[in-house]
Amino acid sequence: MKKLRLILGDQLNLTHSWFQECDENTIYVLAEMRQETDYVKHHIQKVVAFFQSMRNFYTTIKGQGHQAIYFQITDVKNPQDLEKLILLCIKKYSAEKFEYQLPDEYRLDEQLKTICSNLKIESEAFDSEHFFTTRNELSDFYEGKKLLLMENFYRNMRKKHHILMNGSIPVGKQWNFDASNRKKYKGEVPIPAEKNFHANVSELVTQIKEAGIKTFGNIDENNFSWPTSREQSLVVLDYFCSHLLKHFGDYEDAMHTDEKFLFHSRLSFAMNSKMLSPKEVIETVVSFYHANETYISISQVEGFVRQILGWREYIRGIYWKEMPNYSQMNVLNNTNKLPDFFWTGKTKMNCMSHAINQSLDEAYAHHIQRLMVIGNFALLTQIHPDEVDAWYLGVYIDAIEWVEMPNTRGMSQYADGGIIATKPYVSSGSYINKMSNNCAKCHYNVKEKFGDKACPFNTLYWNFLDEKKEYFKGNQRMAMMLNLLNKINPEELYKIKVKANEIIDNMDSY
Ligand code: FAD
Ligand code: SF4
Repeated sequence: MKKLRLILGDQLNLTHSWFQECDENTIYVLAEMRQETDYVKHHIQKVVAFFQSMRNFYTTIKGQGHQAIYFQITDVKNPQDLEKLILLCIKKYSAEKFEYQLPDEYRLDEQLKTICSNLKIESEAFDSEHFFTTRNELSDFYEGKKLLLMENFYRNMRKKHHILMNGSIPVGKQWNFDASNRKKYKGEVPIPAEKNFHANVSELVTQIKEAGIKTFGNIDENNFSWPTSREQSLVVLDYFCSHLLKHFGDYEDAMHTDEKFLFHSRLSFAMNSKMLSPKEVIETVVSFYHANETYISISQVEGFVRQILGWREYIRGIYWKEMPNYSQMNVLNNTNKLPDFFWTGKTKMNCMSHAINQSLDEAYAHHIQRLMVIGNFALLTQIHPDEVDAWYLGVYIDAIEWVEMPNTRGMSQYADGGIIATKPYVSSGSYINKMSNNCAKCHYNVKEKFGDKACPFNTLYWNFLDEKKEYFKGNQRMAMMLNLLNKINPEELYKIKVKANEIIDNMDSY
């Protein structure tokens, strides 16, 4: 039977069982499509990374002897739309069956179901063979529970997959070493430079421009740093083990104006495009740890495993449990617009300037920059979660809706009413001061709450608590913050609120 198999841009899994055998009656199709480049405005590096990785994947499977067809973005025959693409290929190759791997995005899942229901030939969906969990495993795990605490899910995953376990006891006799993952970086250990592939991608950039795709952000066309093949992804993984793992946990939450990546792995793109599987990443890291226990501590490795086995799978499970309603949630009724400086990086707030300019330059910011600087500011200024979501979905190299949306709308903006986070991730400038060196060189004074030089995070923090106090009054985890708010004398609170409104109305002047 002649089969057409679709490979989406984030399904570049060479170890998938589909590729175990070559079959001349099976043709694979990959296409760079306007449908995918245009649903949100993406960072130029993100478009380049996906297209280049897709091209490399196609070359590899062709080299292995598989039948495959590829549409580049500028091909005149490229239908640029998924349904048209499938119909065209079915006709051209007289396919008698259409097969696809389950997409991770709700949007594409729905589209493919509709396309298949209209096809005149048989169709079948296959697992992507990537994640530890199935789409609904998290829903089943929390069935009947009110609180969806990540920690419970994570411990269950450790036991179920026998990861960092000695029988039924966790390695290190502790499930979680989060408390030792909160060091400020003061230069005590050198940070190795990031693994950069120095690829020349100028031809591809020209093609993207010729196609008229609107992108944003910056790119060094002669020095493209991201991995775009399985081999390169494995190099990044190896580099992480041998150079970065030993301090990963220690400085996981740290920020520094001279260090963009600290000890972070930069593996999210390789995993989200499925060039690497989370299983092989964890297995490799845990084996490396066991071979080097004399100089790598369990807290570094547990911290890393928790991010992938815990958070990544948990976030995916929440997405499938809550979609499609999740994408509309805005429980705090935030309605403000994103300031322009999210696109230009022009702001006097040193922490925001660093985090945003780095995002625009590298298509990357690490977790705490995304959560406690940029996300914190967006929530404190009460920006509409749709706007925040669109920015995060566009800017980061690893942003695919299933992982971006629960992290942004849920964890960072509390728009889901606490499905993911039991309290909003908001803080005044003091948290940023504790975890980074940003404040020392800032135009603003991190100690002040109002006045011309007051740190905007301070002013906005108390204003946010005051504005949302009714919503949070029953939340035990907010009790301490609300108590402190109550202790501010009314005159001072009035000044704070006047200043906060002034900031919110003129965000681009700050
Ligand atoms: P490391 O710090 O080295 O961590 C290792 C791996 O753990 C990552 O590669 C990632 O796969 C996984 N991981 C860590 N935290 C999370 C998490 N919260 N959710 C899912 N996986 C996690 N991650 C994305 O992959 N895509 C996104 O679009 C995305 N958007 C985010 C938006 C916000 C507001 C926040 C707060 C976080 C977001 N994250 C997202 C999670 C996290 O910030 C990135 O996975 C991480 O910064 C990627 O860099 P890294 O590979 O160097 O990660
Ligand atoms: Fe950011 Fe405030 Fe510190 Fe400036 S003083 S870097 S605005 S937290």
